[in-house]
Amino acid sequence: MPAAPFPPPTPATRRGLWPTRIAWRLALGLGVLVGLVLLALLQSGWQLRLMSDLTQRFATGDMQRLLRVQALTLQTEGVGSALVRLVHAPREDRVKEYTDVDARNRTLDGIIESLSEGLKDVEQEATLRRLVEARTTYAEAFIATVDEIEADNLPAAARALNDQVNPALNAMLRESGALLQRERQRVEEQLAAAQSLFERVALWVGAASLLGVALAAVVAWRTTRSVVAPLARLETAALQIAQGDYRHRMPDTGTQEVDRVGQALNTMADAVAQREQQIVRLAYQDSLTGLPNRTALLYPQHPVPEGYNALLLIDLARLKAINETLGFATGDTLIKELATRSQAVLQTAMARGWVGPRGVVARLAGGSFAMAVRAASRHEVEQLRLALSAAMAQSVACSGHSVDLAIACGLAGAETQDAVAANALLRNAEVALHSAKRAALDHTWYSAAQEAARLDHLSLVSDLRTAVAQSQLQMWLQPKLSLQTGQPVGAEALVRWVHPQRGFVSPAEFVPFAEQTGYITMVTDWMLDQALHTLQRWASTYPQLSIAVNLSTRDLQDPGFALRVAAKVAASGVDPQRLRLEVTESGVMQDAVKSLALLHALRAVGMPLSIDDFGTGYSSLAYLQKMPVSELKIDRSFVDGIDAAPASQRLVKAMIEMGHGLDLVVTAEGVETTAERDMLISLGCDVMQGYLGSKPLHGDVMETWLLSNT
Ligand code: C2E
Ligand code: CA
Ligand code: CA
Repeated sequence: MPAAPFPPPTPATRRGLWPTRIAWRLALGLGVLVGLVLLALLQSGWQLRLMSDLTQRFATGDMQRLLRVQALTLQTEGVGSALVRLVHAPREDRVKEYTDVDARNRTLDGIIESLSEGLKDVEQEATLRRLVEARTTYAEAFIATVDEIEADNLPAAARALNDQVNPALNAMLRESGALLQRERQRVEEQLAAAQSLFERVALWVGAASLLGVALAAVVAWRTTRSVVAPLARLETAALQIAQGDYRHRMPDTGTQEVDRVGQALNTMADAVAQREQQIVRLAYQDSLTGLPNRTALLYPQHPVPEGYNALLLIDLARLKAINETLGFATGDTLIKELATRSQAVLQTAMARGWVGPRGVVARLAGGSFAMAVRAASRHEVEQLRLALSAAMAQSVACSGHSVDLAIACGLAGAETQDAVAANALLRNAEVALHSAKRAALDHTWYSAAQEAARLDHLSLVSDLRTAVAQSQLQMWLQPKLSLQTGQPVGAEALVRWVHPQRGFVSPAEFVPFAEQTGYITMVTDWMLDQALHTLQRWASTYPQLSIAVNLSTRDLQDPGFALRVAAKVAASGVDPQRLRLEVTESGVMQDAVKSLALLHALRAVGMPLSIDDFGTGYSSLAYLQKMPVSELKIDRSFVDGIDAAPASQRLVKAMIEMGHGLDLVVTAEGVETTAERDMLISLGCDVMQGYLGSKPLHGDVMETWLLSNT
């Protein structure tokens, strides 16, 4: 699935003056609140100042004037009575009375003068002018009265007092009364003004507080909503992503912080989607060759339009041996080369129209590849196979070696035009490949008979138990010959199964299954008994010959095995030296510690041990030194055609020298020609085993062979 390009994350869009960041919103909200509080405080302070000014003015100005006007009235009345006392006072007291009257007059003048200061009322000014005039009249009348007193004309003085002074004083009293009246009125007005100011301030502060609370509520609500609502949308979107909808984008919430989290989630979703694609790719693609894998072939992500009706199962021969001898890098190179070449063959076949245009090459496992195609008939598939083997003809050069790309093919399908399920095709091709390998052919077509054989195979394993009980097994012996004297030195015991229905069954067919199921231990025990029997018989005729029995991995892991063998040998009375036991390197390596302990136990009983199939396993020289073995059997694959292969010669020479260095007898397996034998002699090999000496033989045939060969 190709990655769909995701739209880039968009920055939060501005909505009017409303800020896009939560921080700014909070700052704005708090700022508005602080501003309102400051404004309310300022306004209240200003109003309070106005009020204090007013009270100040009231206390210093108006109230004092009122008091002064009251004092004026009192003083005016006081002057009247002081004058009466002066007129009637005896001569010697007059000076005192004069002083009193003078002082009162001065006070009067002082009050009048102070009243005229800072007067802003027109009416009051007029009243004050009339008061001043009355004061002038009173001054003149006072002087006239004093003149009469000084002339000792007291009746005239009393008259002047009555007629002139008292009316003037009364006029003054009248005017000061008017002044008082007016001042009282002013004070009342001031009080009313102050009252209304108080009320206004209270109203203002109340309104400002109300407004502040309302604004604060609005800001708080909007801020909260602007945080909670985007978070809720984010949550919904995140849940959608969690459900696998990676292409779902976080909505633009208009809030920077939330959008940043949203963008982070988008990035995360992209990364997860990418990784998931990668996982899917890994799940459907073979990492070594880049080809589709088994899963991709059997469970395609998208249905194959016309389907397949034929399948070629290609198997790279001897991959295990190549990995073990030339290393995994070489094995990988071969696999990649096989992938490239079969891919190219398929492309050409599709281009030429031999097969439909939607064929596929998949790597199933190891050196196993499948080519699934749509073909008109078997003929086209056969053409494809021929092209494949032609493409593999040229050997591959890797790290100094030239390695053949030998392949075997199992072919299935193309009987009709109908599409066949890939797994059915693959299963049939596997059956075909299996029978091709068994028959040592480079290819076979699947047939129903093979299927029957395959099913038989399965029942075979369950038959094995009865086989042992009913003596369907046979021990065949293959002689081993000294390369120095040409004389037989012993034989290897090889099991054969004569099945009542199927006839002769090769050990290559059932030994691996018997090993898997554990029945092999019964086979080993049976073979040991047979070998000991034969050795008993040979004790007088061929005391120099040994018989080698093959042990399986299972035997090597059975802790009771050594004791069992020891008991068998003791019971038979056979010299343990004459019973050899063959183990493979890979068999020992499965559980090296356990196996080595067992090998030492067996060796202690007296049986000599051999390393079988040497050169095909992983084992190192270091391990070989630890094994208590006395014979090294070089695997058949190194011997095959050794006379014409200098590389094999060098290798086998090294193996022989190494074996001799460890005091081992070196045996070559699978010697088929005299040329191979002669080459082995010249390389210093000790013993040979193979068809050249003799094929494995049974019963009387073996006895006859011995008679004519010793
Ligand atoms: P192996 O132990 O390597 O036995 C040698 C195999 O090579 C035998 O095959 C033998 O018939 C074959 N052979 C001998 N000389 C030649 C030759 O010159 N050319 C060719 N091409 N082949 C030759 P066989 O009997 O089919 O046994 C196959 C394998 O089955 C044995 O390989 C061994 O691993 C296993 N096997 C056989 N008998 C027993 C047994 O009694 N117990 C166990 N555990 N495994 C057994
Ligand atoms: Ca063997
Ligand atoms: Ca062998």
